[in-house]
Amino acid sequence: MKRARMLNEMGLGPLWKLRRREAAAPAHAPHDERAAAIARMDWEALRQAVAACTACPLHATRKQAVLGVGDIHADWLFIGEGPGAEEDERGEPFVGQAGKLLDAMLAAIGLRRGENVYIANVVKCRPPNNRTPDAAETAACWPFLARQIELIQPKLIVCLGKPAAQTLLAQEVTIARVRGSVHDYAGIPLIVTYHPAYLLRNLPDKAKAWEDLCLMRRTMAGLK
Ligand code: URA
Repeated sequence: MKRARMLNEMGLGPLWKLRRREAAAPAHAPHDERAAAIARMDWEALRQAVAACTACPLHATRKQAVLGVGDIHADWLFIGEGPGAEEDERGEPFVGQAGKLLDAMLAAIGLRRGENVYIANVVKCRPPNNRTPDAAETAACWPFLARQIELIQPKLIVCLGKPAAQTLLAQEVTIARVRGSVHDYAGIPLIVTYHPAYLLRNLPDKAKAWEDLCLMRRTMAGLK
C-alpha cells in the first residue's frame, strides 16, 4: 500500500482521548505460587482465572475482564495497555476509535484482526477513567500476559505504547528511544510503536508509525 494512502487510512481524526501517561514502572511479578499456577494454565483455565481475578483493585470497577482476542496460534501478537470503556462493555480489546486505527494499521501490512493476529493488553481490567495502569496493577496482571505469550508462541511481538514496552522489556523506556529497532522478549523479536490512541492525537507521528509498520513487515519476512 502507498504511504499516502496508508496515512490517509490512518487519519481517522483525534476522536479518542489519550490516557494520561504516568510512568508505569516496569513490572515483572515475583515468582510466587499464583504466578506458578497461571504458568501451567491452558486457555480455558486462563479465561476463567482472568474472569474471576481479584488480584488488584481494578477488578472492583470492571464490568468484565478482557483477556484478548484472535488466533491463538498467531504469528503476530499485538499488546496494548488496558481495556477502555467500550472494551470493558464488550469484552474485546481495541473495539473503540483506537481499535479502528489499529485495524487500519493491521490492514496496511496485510493483516486482519483474528487472522494470524492475536491482540492482548498489559492489564485485563479497565483502569478507572482510562488512566494508565500503575506498577502494582501491571505486576499483578503480568502472569496472565506471560502465559498468553507462552501459549501463543508468536513469531513477532508488537508493543503498542509505553506501558506495553516497559512491561515486556522490563525497563523504563521512552518510545522515541525504543522504536525503530528490533528488541527481544524471551527469544521472540519485539518491536515497539506508538499506541493508536496517541496517534489519533498526534498526526505527525503517523509517519513514524508507518516506518514501524514497515520494520514489522520486514522483520516478519526475514523470519520466514
Ligand atoms: N487501548 C488499549 O490499550 N487497549 C484496548 O483494548 C483499548 C484501548
